[in-house]
Amino acid sequence: MPVMTTLQDNLQAVQSRIAAACAACGRNPAEVTLLAVSKTFGADAVQDVAACGQQDFGENYIQEGVDKITFLQSAANANKPLIWHCIGPIQSNKTKYVAEFFSWAHTVDRLKIAQRLNDQRPEHLPPLNVCLQVNIDGGATKSGVAPQEVLELAKQVAQLPRLVLRGLMTIPDPVEGFEAQVALHTKSRVLFDEVRAALNRPHFDTLSMGMTSDLEAAIHAGSTMVRVGTAIFGGRQYPA
Ligand SMILES: *Cc1c(COP(=O)(O)O)cnc(C)c1O
Repeated sequence: MPVMTTLQDNLQAVQSRIAAACAACGRNPAEVTLLAVSKTFGADAVQDVAACGQQDFGENYIQEGVDKITFLQSAANANKPLIWHCIGPIQSNKTKYVAEFFSWAHTVDRLKIAQRLNDQRPEHLPPLNVCLQVNIDGGATKSGVAPQEVLELAKQVAQLPRLVLRGLMTIPDPVEGFEAQVALHTKSRVLFDEVRAALNRPHFDTLSMGMTSDLEAAIHAGSTMVRVGTAIFGGRQYPA
């Protein structure tokens, strides 16, 4: 099965990159979770990567994610359940699907969305893990709460009983060069440390940042969760 071999090789290559990045800055690789971003790829590809031991998967498009989650839940080999992360924008009319199907939402940037997720999280599921998306580099068209407003939002979200506030998430615009990437990610790290100290909550432990092109820099700056799509699944093709 050549496709499977490629996915397995890709996954191992990413795991090696994470291990090397941790070694280079004296971190324990166990501190960094790999989130495999499977958007645009089919449930069969997810299954193949899961068969290599990968447990966390990220989806951007909620309906596409729900379809895959539903399909894979009904598949037989459920001895190690997958953990699904919503990493795409969440509109009000989609919160119900995120609350019912995902374990994590990384892109909460408004109290209204957090409240809806809280109210719609089903009783039989554990609380939904939530990260606040921060617009760390000030891109005008980007989602994410402004850095100076994060702490206030964090305090409000931390009160919601059906959510667990886990940390912060960032998607900075790409910059060239390791040093520049580290400098940008370090801004997120500093903010994360400030919010963590001010909140003083045991579960606030996640800094979701770093993708295929900058995961080394993100790990160097303190990322605890890298979201990697292309390096595992290959290039994405979007419908025209
Ligand atoms: C697509 C996507 C990723 C993965 O990006 P790659 O460059 O393919 O690794 C990570 N995070 C978010 C929010 C994404 O939308």
